[in-house]
Amino acid sequence: MTFSEIIARKRDGRTLDREDINAFIEGVTSGNVGGEQAAAMLMAICLRGADGGETQALVEAMRDSGELWRVGEAVPEAVDKHSTGGVGDTVSLVFAPLVAACGVPVAMMAGAGLGHSQGTLDKLAAIPGFRTAADRQEALNLLESCGCCFAAQSERIAPADRILYALRDVTATVESLPLIVASIMSKKLAVGARTLILDVKWGSGAFRKTLPLAMELAEALTAVAEGAGVRVHTLVTDMNQPLGSHLGCANEVRAALAVLDGLGDARLRELTVELAVAALMLGGRSAGEAAGDVERSLSGGAAREAWEKLVQAHGGDPDPERLPRPLRLVEVRAEEAGFITALDSGALGWAAVALGAGRSRRDDQVDPAAGLVVHRRPGDEVRAGEPLATLEIGARAVDEQALARRIRHAFSLDEAPPKTDPLVAARLGVEF
Ligand code: URA
Repeated sequence: MTFSEIIARKRDGRTLDREDINAFIEGVTSGNVGGEQAAAMLMAICLRGADGGETQALVEAMRDSGELWRVGEAVPEAVDKHSTGGVGDTVSLVFAPLVAACGVPVAMMAGAGLGHSQGTLDKLAAIPGFRTAADRQEALNLLESCGCCFAAQSERIAPADRILYALRDVTATVESLPLIVASIMSKKLAVGARTLILDVKWGSGAFRKTLPLAMELAEALTAVAEGAGVRVHTLVTDMNQPLGSHLGCANEVRAALAVLDGLGDARLRELTVELAVAALMLGGRSAGEAAGDVERSLSGGAAREAWEKLVQAHGGDPDPERLPRPLRLVEVRAEEAGFITALDSGALGWAAVALGAGRSRRDDQVDPAAGLVVHRRPGDEVRAGEPLATLEIGARAVDEQALARRIRHAFSLDEAPPKTDPLVAARLGVEF
């Protein structure tokens, strides 16, 4: 079949077989399929959808378009974790040393932030000297030396995804479920850990705004992981408010250190503990053993020690005094009293981007010192004049008053306290 016949098949709503999908993705990677044909196929998939078999074949073809690190062959017990992205989602920085301190190696592929959510890669880059693993051997060396490896998404991992993602961005096809699943899972499977924890976010700060939409994504991601032989446990979690209280890069590293020291933000700690316990249970521990090991690692200092080892192994300086600091702080105060009924975390994420803590375009520079601290959450009562948030101003010139107004608008107030959503809405995959 020619490439245009394959496109026509999908356009007409028929099912593509694995050979067609492999040929198409090979063509995208080699350049034999041009931008016009690739864009037409993306729109056909976006409009017609893809069934489970087609999605699995698409993920595997995209995975095979570049290097395969096969981390699970060398370190079978290694676990990977992926979040679909949120605001104040500092989990990876705590999860990796915490799980490693409990004796389970962690191999994570970190991405740069784009849009309202900050990326783990940008947060790690705030640590002076920190370098992520660039290839399989470096990743395996890091796993050996500190039990953790953070790798950066490179052109060599799932290159078909890079090409297709750039086209999705300009062809209004980013939202297509099979394309999202293929994009996320092709990169996870290319690294190749045999155990995977997925954190699928729903709500105002997630890219799936409703619980049914997030469930649909969670089911599709879980099915693909299972189809590829990965042991997976998926949590669907609330992103109708920032997870942690800090949004930014250096400030999220500090927030992670607070949790590793046994303190820190309660929601960030609670979700990280849930995910870490699930990771240990996937490795065969009972619920009681896993919870006990995680708590002891946090309270006894082992998780904090694992962080220092991790940072040093990646070439970084673990001294928190060396992290960049904002030049100025500006308080955003409540203008009236009431209960906070809702907090638009997407709006807060965009405010952090405006401060320089994220990117609205791929080539934007991130200011590691800039960010935002949230002091009040849904359910809290506030009096007029009390602080809602603090702007951490870095090198970028910003209109502070306009930003303060945007942040104030992100908080909805009422006379009565609201009903808040549970942090974990659902679990899928391996049942414990
Ligand atoms: N993350 C990705 O890597 N790709 C998507 O399409 C969405 C989220």
